[in-house]
Amino acid sequence: MFLPILGEENCAEREEVDEAMKLRVDPDLCRACELCTETCPDIFEIGEDVATVEVDFVPSDLEECVRQAAEDCPAEAIMIEGQ
Ligand code: SF4
Repeated sequence: MFLPILGEENCAEREEVDEAMKLRVDPDLCRACELCTETCPDIFEIGEDVATVEVDFVPSDLEECVRQAAEDCPAEAIMIEGQ
């Protein structure tokens, strides 16, 4: 079996991913009000009557925007994980 050897750069990237903000929208709570898409259009999109998250990990420069969207969500449907 072949096991890849991770160099220092790969380890640093892995740490960044491990520490990256993740989030999800609870479809049972979301009211599709579109507030999150206005606050953070690079992260949220309105799908079929529910907001969806467009990224696996939140870029660090958009974390504050995501926190604001979660705080403002009237349904408390935005769940931040991994922070
Ligand atoms: S702000 Fe909340 S309720 Fe409104 S669309 Fe976004 S997740 Fe859904």
